[in-house]
Amino acid sequence: MPLQSASLLAASTSGPLRVVLINPYELGRQPFALAEPAAWLKREGFGVACLDLSLQKLDPGLLGDADLVAIYVGMHTATRIALEALPRVRQLAPRAHLCVYGLYAPMNEALLRSLGVGTVLGGEVEPALLALCRRLRSQDEGMAQPEPVVNLGKVPFEVPDRGVLPRLSRYAHLVMPDGSTRLAGFAEASRGCKHLCRHCPVVPVYEGKFRIVPHDVVLADIRQQVAEGAEHVSFGDPDFLNGPTHALKVVRGLHREFPEVSFDATIKIQHLIDHAQLLPELKEAGCLFITSAVEAVDDEILGLLAKNHTARDFDRALALTRKTGIALAPTFVAFTPWTTLEGYLALLERLVELEVVQSVPPVQLTLRLLVPEGSHLLQLTGFRDRLQAFDRRLLGYPWHHADPRVDRLQRELQTLVAGEGAADRPRSELFRGIWHRAHEALGRPAPSLGGRNLGAPIPRMSEPWYCCAEPTAQQLQAF
Ligand code: SF4
Repeated sequence: MPLQSASLLAASTSGPLRVVLINPYELGRQPFALAEPAAWLKREGFGVACLDLSLQKLDPGLLGDADLVAIYVGMHTATRIALEALPRVRQLAPRAHLCVYGLYAPMNEALLRSLGVGTVLGGEVEPALLALCRRLRSQDEGMAQPEPVVNLGKVPFEVPDRGVLPRLSRYAHLVMPDGSTRLAGFAEASRGCKHLCRHCPVVPVYEGKFRIVPHDVVLADIRQQVAEGAEHVSFGDPDFLNGPTHALKVVRGLHREFPEVSFDATIKIQHLIDHAQLLPELKEAGCLFITSAVEAVDDEILGLLAKNHTARDFDRALALTRKTGIALAPTFVAFTPWTTLEGYLALLERLVELEVVQSVPPVQLTLRLLVPEGSHLLQLTGFRDRLQAFDRRLLGYPWHHADPRVDRLQRELQTLVAGEGAADRPRSELFRGIWHRAHEALGRPAPSLGGRNLGAPIPRMSEPWYCCAEPTAQQLQAF
């Protein structure tokens, strides 16, 4: 019997309601978004089991007994997998009430309901999940969902229950530049974001608000992961410095208790500049690298995305982190309706000039702007006219570039970085392929990169960071 089935049956003896929480995919991280609700629901005596489809398959035994199946959709790729999985979940759990929760649930509410999902939740979801369980226990399912679809109220966080998830050692790990690896834990010190970048999926739900997880809860969560062997903590906050005082309290506590444990975090360019004085302390506390959504090196595109930073600010942030000894891992939305072939080449050239080629996962240089339902991009004057009708399979409004060569190049590069064995090839080698194809697309000879310093490899997670990519065949094999 699988471990998870056993845990559900054990828990269900103390409460009649059986809950299965499902994570389709979350960048190889052990999901806080399952462990936190699990703690809330188990505290009330509900039987909780978890299935992480990045590591496990849908379990007919587990689902056949379920009264509630709640699927977490924290990112675009996860939502695509969830939509593919829903018919099978429905088949395997015929008695269960279906709930979908997480950032991408409210924006796809109508679609999810049309597929038989009874409850759709976003934001701070735990109180609503608990209320739903209580309703189902008292057999008060009702017709309409009484819980708010989006809750931004402050919630009393519990220490996440990670015992219901696969072991940490099965998840993504830290890879050091010398190729050595470290077991990585995953924590969240806040949810939401106080910024309003137009293309960001956090914005339609949190609308410029963020909520902190109390530092003692974060530290207790880290403590249990270190006890399981974590030597590194990857903070999954949308932006770690939305609350700098809180962030410092967390990393000071982490470093005091576990001075040998390193960490990484995601911090926007503007925060790296505005809070530059904090960088030495982050470094001292064990920060190895910072992921930052640079998105573009074209000021016009940055303005359209409302990023609140310029191309020069990227250079400044890079200089600041370098001076401190923290690696910067920039991420990009490389292809937008406003990206020209010349502009794309300018991005590649800038990465070479800044000697950060090895800091950028190649998939970042293939990503295409996603326009989901509810995106603030739709508020841009005239933008909707450039889009096609909403595509239920893609979960977004498709667009074609005015210059077909741009779309062709994007498709070619996507195939290149997803090709067989590509994941094992050095980033610099894949970059050379991208460099050549981008020049070819413009009909220009590609200058040799021989003799250019492409930068040194930096610490990284074994699964690259991105929010929107096609689900792979392997991801779809779980059901
Ligand atoms: S892109 Fe980053 S900074 Fe901007 S709204 Fe999203 S999470 Fe916040």
